[in-house]
Amino acid sequence: MSDKVNFGDELVSPEEKTRRVGAVFSSVARRYDIMNDLMSGGMHRLWKDRFANRVKPRAGEVILDMAGGTGDIAFRMAQRGARVTVSDINADMLGVGEQRAKRRGLKGLTWKVENAEKLSFADNSFDAYTIVFGIRNVTDIPAALREARRVLKRGGRFYCMEFSSSDWPGFSNLYEAWSSNVIPRIGKVVTDDEESYRYLVESIRRFPRPNAFKAMVAEAGFVRAAAEPMLGGLVTIHSGWKI
Ligand code: SAM
Repeated sequence: MSDKVNFGDELVSPEEKTRRVGAVFSSVARRYDIMNDLMSGGMHRLWKDRFANRVKPRAGEVILDMAGGTGDIAFRMAQRGARVTVSDINADMLGVGEQRAKRRGLKGLTWKVENAEKLSFADNSFDAYTIVFGIRNVTDIPAALREARRVLKRGGRFYCMEFSSSDWPGFSNLYEAWSSNVIPRIGKVVTDDEESYRYLVESIRRFPRPNAFKAMVAEAGFVRAAAEPMLGGLVTIHSGWKI
């Protein structure tokens, strides 16, 4: 069996993938938030609001927001009184997030560099684990899911939001044209980095279909694994429980 993994459409070693994903996010960190608005026409804000509503964070809950990047999801949960640890493999993304949190005067956030595949947190530490638009970038996804389960308390909730290819006729063609042609060009103009945005689009195309990912969540030991598609299946919220 080949030990090569996909970096977008290229086959590389697992170490090379982790290194190159790191380079992508270091390169885009400073412009990441504005690019999200441009690429999604502001829609990512609505998806993230909906995700936070689905998680229903409660005051005092301890939540791990993995691959938390510049903090969009963590901010929404901290505003409801949860104590959120924002973790990401990339210190540049977290650095931008910390500055944003400071400017907004947000409390209840802890920032920590971590690889989702091998967490330093103790077993049974968190009430909820969230990962948004992050897991498709992780080299060993089953390892990250096992770690998510390990660090959750009994009764803890797992939530993941990720892109998926849409099956809606017409819409899928439109999305294909937008993602292959327009997104890398916006990336070039705004960040002078077309390649990173080409990788991001390819990584979406390669991510497992919702039912396949749901099976991976169940395989990692979560119960009641579920996949709720939104917007014609362009984005899916996955969930599961640790018992
Ligand atoms: N969750 C944020 C959001 O929705 O705005 C950021 C999403 S961003 C597209 C993906 C993030 O995944 C990046 O910050 C990247 O550094 C992080 N990431 C990639 N591989 C990772 C890994 N193995 N462990 C932790 N974070 C990782």
